[in-house]
Amino acid sequence: MLELLKNYFGYDEFRPLQEEIINNVLLGNDSLVLMPTGGGKSLCYELPAMKLPGLTLVISPLIALMKDQVDGLKANGIAAEFINSSLSPKEIGRVEDLVRAGKIKILYLAPERLALINFQNFLKTLKISLIAVDEAHCISEWGHDFRPDYRNLIMLRRDWPKVSIIALTATATERVRRDIVEQLSLKNAKIFISSFNRPNLIYSVKPKKDAFYSLLQLLKKYKDRSAIIYCFSRKETENLAADLSEEGYRAFAYHAGLDNNLRRLNQEKFVRDEAQIIVATIAFGMGIDKPDVRLVIHYSLPKSIEGYYQETGRAGRDGLPSECVLFFSYGDIHKHGYFIDEIEDADECAKAKEKLNQVIKYSELKTCRREYLLRYFGENNIPAFPDAEREMATNENHDGKNNCRGCDNCLAPKEEFDATVVAQKILSAIIRTGERFGAKHLAGVLQGKAARRIIEFGHDRLSVFGIMAEYDDDEIKYFISLLITKGLLVKIGDEYPIIRLTEAGRKFLLERQKIVLTRPRKAELISEESEPFGSVEYEPELFIELRSLRKQLAQEAGVPPFVIFSDVSLEQMAYYLPQSPENFLRINGVGKEKLQRFGQAFMSVITSYAKNHNLAERPNFARIRRSGAVRSAGRLGSTYDETMQLLQAGLTIEQIALARNLAPGTVISHLENLKQAGKDLRLDHLKPLSERFDKIQAAFRESGGILLSPVREILGEEYSYNEIRLARLFL
Ligand code: ADP
Ligand code: ZN
Repeated sequence: MLELLKNYFGYDEFRPLQEEIINNVLLGNDSLVLMPTGGGKSLCYELPAMKLPGLTLVISPLIALMKDQVDGLKANGIAAEFINSSLSPKEIGRVEDLVRAGKIKILYLAPERLALINFQNFLKTLKISLIAVDEAHCISEWGHDFRPDYRNLIMLRRDWPKVSIIALTATATERVRRDIVEQLSLKNAKIFISSFNRPNLIYSVKPKKDAFYSLLQLLKKYKDRSAIIYCFSRKETENLAADLSEEGYRAFAYHAGLDNNLRRLNQEKFVRDEAQIIVATIAFGMGIDKPDVRLVIHYSLPKSIEGYYQETGRAGRDGLPSECVLFFSYGDIHKHGYFIDEIEDADECAKAKEKLNQVIKYSELKTCRREYLLRYFGENNIPAFPDAEREMATNENHDGKNNCRGCDNCLAPKEEFDATVVAQKILSAIIRTGERFGAKHLAGVLQGKAARRIIEFGHDRLSVFGIMAEYDDDEIKYFISLLITKGLLVKIGDEYPIIRLTEAGRKFLLERQKIVLTRPRKAELISEESEPFGSVEYEPELFIELRSLRKQLAQEAGVPPFVIFSDVSLEQMAYYLPQSPENFLRINGVGKEKLQRFGQAFMSVITSYAKNHNLAERPNFARIRRSGAVRSAGRLGSTYDETMQLLQAGLTIEQIALARNLAPGTVISHLENLKQAGKDLRLDHLKPLSERFDKIQAAFRESGGILLSPVREILGEEYSYNEIRLARLFL
C-alpha cells in the first residue's frame, strides 16, 4: 500500500486512520468515516480503488467540484471520469463506453443519476468493487445539509448487497451517524472517528474597530495568497469586494443572489489563482474547495459554532499554516438578534439564540480557543500538541493548561502577577453594591466614575468607589471575566447579567487566600507582529517562480493549479532544490506520473535558480523543518526588552521573576522566544551545574528529540521542567 501511495499520490506515509480505514475497505467491510475537512478522506477510497479488481463508484453532491477531482486523479495517472448534468448526452455516452470497456477505475456520480432506470440498468452490467458515498450527512434530514436526491442511494445496497460501502463526512452528530448507517443499510460498519483538531489552523478574534484597516493589514501579510472573507449580507459582500478592488486586490463577491454564470466565473477565478479573494455570505460558499486557502476571515459574526468551524475548515486543507480571524463587535450581535427575533417558531428561535450565545462566548474567551472548539464537538481528550516546536516555547499558558501555540490566547505572551489585592477590591465592590449589578456598572464604581446611575444608587459614597482608578473599563472587565473563569464569581442572567460571588469567592475573602492572574493584553501582538506567511525557510523567490510555472502549465492543461502541484510540494522544492529525478521524486506529492509529466519543467527552473544563487541541493530529505505554526517572536514587545535588560545585568531567573513580578516559567519563555527570534543573549550564568547539565544533555540525546516531557521522564522528579528548559537553551 505504501508503494501505491508513493507511486500514485507521491506521499510517503499515511495520515492518521487512513491505513486502518483502507485495510477495512480492502477486507470487504463497510465503513463510516468521520474526519475533518482536509483530513484526507478521499484517499480512503482512491487508494483501494487502485488495488481492487473492479470499478469504484463515488457519489458526491458537489457537481461543481467533480471535474477538479477527476482532473486531480488523472494528473496522478489514475483513470477516473465523472457523469453529471454538466455533460452532454454525447459526452456521457463516451464515458459509459470507457467504463464498459473496463478502462476506468474510479467513476464519480451525482446522486440524481441513480434515480434513472436506464442508468441503473447500465450500472448493473458492470463489475463494481467499491461504493464510496462522500458528504454522507446529506442523506439525513437531521443534518444541516439534507439533500432529497441522496435518498436515491438506498438502491445501492439493494442492487449490490455484497459490495462494500464506505460513507464519509466531515460533520455528523450521533443522530446523523445512526441515520447514515440505517439509510445506506451498512452492515456491521466499522466507524472511524478522527480528532477534529486542525493543528495547522491558527484561531484569533479581533475587535471590529477600524475593521477595514485591520483587514488590509492582514491581507498585506498574506500577499498573493488565497483568502475567503465571510460577511453578513449580500450587500456587504459586494461593498467589501468593491472596496478591496479599489485597494488593488483581485476580490470578488460570491453569494446565492448572483447570476449562476457570474458566480461560477468568480469561483473559477479563485480556484485558478486569478482572483485572490472571495467575499462570501455566511450562508453560502459550500462550493468553494481549494486546498491552499491561507486566510479565512469572518468579517461578521457567524451564526453558530458548527457553521464557524465548517467555514474556517476551508483554510489550510493542504496542511500548511493558515489563519482564521473573527472580527467581533457587539453591534453584529444585534444584527443577528434582529433576525432571530423574527423567527416565529418559539423552539427554533430559542435554539438560534443559544447558538449565537455560544459564538459570543467563543469570541469573549480568555482561554484556548482550540480547546473550546474541540470540546464543543465533544472531544474530551484535548491533544497534547506534541509538535516539537510547539513545545519549545512555554508549554503552559496562563491557566497552567496545555498551550496550543495556535490561537491568540495561547500565543500572546502572558504575564502573571500577584492579583490578590485586585481580586479583593473587585469582590468587595460586588458585595458592597449588593450583588445586583453587571460588569460595566462595577467597573464604573471601581474607577470612581460619577455616572448618573452610580450617583442615583449612592455608590459614589461607598468605600470602594474609585479604588481602582488606575485601571480602565476594559481592564477591570477583563479581571472580572478571569475571576469568573477561576470560579470566584458567577454571571447570572442573559439580557442584563449581574455578577455575584460564589462560595469559593466568599472563602477567598474570608480566608485571605492569594491569587495569581494574567495581565490584560495591551496591544494586539499576534497578527501584526508575527512574520509574513511562510515559516519554512525555503527560497521565496524560487517559490514565486515555481508558482508562476505552475499557473502557466495549469492554464495550458485547463485545470486548476493545485491539480499540478500543491503549495506543500512547491515549498519543498524551493527548500530542497531537487535536480535529479530521484530527488525530485522525494518531494511530497510527487508520484511517478507527475515526475514524468512535470519533473523536467520544474527541475530546470530549480537548476537555473540554484546556479544563479550558488546553491546546492539540500541533501537531508528526512523531514522538512517547520519553525512553528506562527512565530510570535519576530519583533518582541517591551516586556521582552525589560527581561533582556535584567538578564544582561546578570540577574538569575528567580531575581528577574521577583523584580518583574512574573512567574519564573514566564521569564524562561521570554528567553526562549528571544533566542528563537535570533537575539544574542548573555546566558552563561544561567547554565545548570555541569554535572546536572551533562545528565540533561544525555537525556535529550536518549530521547532523540527536543521535547521536554520524554526528557523529564528519563530524568525523574529530581529535575524540574524549568531546569530542563534552561539547559535546552544551551543545547
Ligand atoms: P478531505 O476530503 O478529508 O477534506 P482530502 O482528501 O481532499 O481531504 O485531502 C486533503 C489534502 O491532503 C489533499 O491535498 C490530499 O492530497 C492531502 N493528503 C491526503 N492524504 C495524504 C497523505 N497521506 N500525505 C500527505 N498528504 C495527504
Ligand atoms: Zn490555544
